[in-house]
Amino acid sequence: MKLLITTSLLMASLVLLSCGANNDKTNTASADTAQIAIMDTTAEKTYAVSLVNNKKDPTCGMPVTAGISDTAHYEKNILGFCSVECKNEFLKNPKANLAAAEIK
Ligand SMILES: [Zn+2]
Repeated sequence: MKLLITTSLLMASLVLLSCGANNDKTNTASADTAQIAIMDTTAEKTYAVSLVNNKKDPTCGMPVTAGISDTAHYEKNILGFCSVECKNEFLKNPKANLAAAEIK
């Protein structure tokens, strides 16, 4: 019985999490970011350093070798970010922040 309750709670929180993620995407989508193809932003996913073209998270300056939680396409480059928050921050003004990404 206890297991059933735990499983139900887990399922409920997963549903809540996915709802939150969807709302976030909708809110941040705008005309400015329309040209940027955003890859799958499932929170649990991690990306290989070899997949991205930047050396550093342009928002916080963290090396991508420390871990990539999210990526974004920008001007033929695939940029890795340590978090969704950093990606969203970058996408607010990609041109100004691109240099900090240290494209390989
Ligand atoms: Zn970051």
